Amino acid sequence: MQVTSINQNYLELQGSYLFSEIAKRRTKFMQENPQAEIISLGIGDVTRGLPEAVLKAMHGAVDELAQPVSFRGYGPEQGYDFLVNAIIENDYRTRGVEIASNEVFVSDGSKCDVGNIQEIFSADSIVAVQDPVYPVYVDTNVMAGRSGKYNGETKRYDNIVYLACTAENDFKPLLPDRKVDLIYLCYPNNPTGMTLTKDELKVWVDYARENNCLILFDSAYEAFIQEDDVPHSIYEVEGAKEVAIEFRSFSKTAGFTGVRCAYTVVPRGLKGLDAAGNSVVINDLWNRRHTTKFNGVSYVTQRGAEAIYSPEGKAQISELIDYYMTNAGIIRDGLASIGLEVFGGVNAPYIWLKTPQGMDSWSFFDKLLSEANIVGTPGVGFGQSGQGYFRLTAFGSRENTVKAVERIRKLSL
Ligand code: PLP
Repeated sequence: MQVTSINQNYLELQGSYLFSEIAKRRTKFMQENPQAEIISLGIGDVTRGLPEAVLKAMHGAVDELAQPVSFRGYGPEQGYDFLVNAIIENDYRTRGVEIASNEVFVSDGSKCDVGNIQEIFSADSIVAVQDPVYPVYVDTNVMAGRSGKYNGETKRYDNIVYLACTAENDFKPLLPDRKVDLIYLCYPNNPTGMTLTKDELKVWVDYARENNCLILFDSAYEAFIQEDDVPHSIYEVEGAKEVAIEFRSFSKTAGFTGVRCAYTVVPRGLKGLDAAGNSVVINDLWNRRHTTKFNGVSYVTQRGAEAIYSPEGKAQISELIDYYMTNAGIIRDGLASIGLEVFGGVNAPYIWLKTPQGMDSWSFFDKLLSEANIVGTPGVGFGQSGQGYFRLTAFGSRENTVKAVERIRKLSL
């Protein structure tokens, strides 16, 4: 029995081959080598516990919910004022950026936000993505019918504009060579771990202003930035408020991958055109979408997120980030010391390496698994420009990170 017609666009989606293939190869290896002690440096999830200040605030909030007098039910869909104000003050005002409270939308994760945002734009918008890419940007546009057909030979969608990021361009994509409407930029970048300076980001903001396009700026790894010339927000660049939406997440910043909290900034100055050529405030559309389809992040979670901005919270987060970034340094230095070409890992928890001797990404995966019992992520899984690269993450324990690097150093590469 066929109950109804389906959204044909979903059939254009390619299977999530990457992580299932990794799991398949890992399982096979473990079956054949049950004594092997495998270390995963492929994980994109954090592993440390929540900061003490967050836990304390969440416990307090749970207790509040027990009493009718302090109980909270449905809250504002856009987030409670206490969290929105903490975001505006700490993430923006301290950097000289003024964001109004009705420009911030608290949500249960950046994955949802970067995935959902495309809904408010025209079905025929042309989308540009960096290659390699966080797959959510592509797949959500495939679902919406913007991608065109998948080409099995090029392994790309016909209507998506791919901006190659490779060692040849220092992972800084060239501006699009055709008219595009939406540009997804991710900095600090997943998977390459690379960043842009403020001047380099300005080139994109200026381009968007001159060519009427919108930048969707995913800054999920902002908290890992260490270098002074790397902007923490696209709005540090003059004029960006008229051409950019920014996404931030507490997931990696404070161990919220399971707790779930993030936010999106949609400046009031962002305008689009309707079919009749009239100007429309994009913030109004996103507000409408958010309030129609989302009922707010839990009070307990938002109190936990607010605590990140307390003096204790800031100190504890800084320790957390230091822990992961020390791991990143250990991986980076360890691999560089045996002559591997490594990128990222300075302002991001990802290390992107060029596979030795021109090996393809999957051959290197197999070598690392079989000879060092280490699991990483083949770069080609993030896009064709990732072929010949490999991603390692700094989210493991210190002990495993050190052990993994020692094992790689012993390989003949
Ligand atoms: N954006 C990028 C680039 C990511 O790598 C991730 C998570 O891995 C996300 C967004 C999703 O973050 P969240 O946990 O807030 O949904």
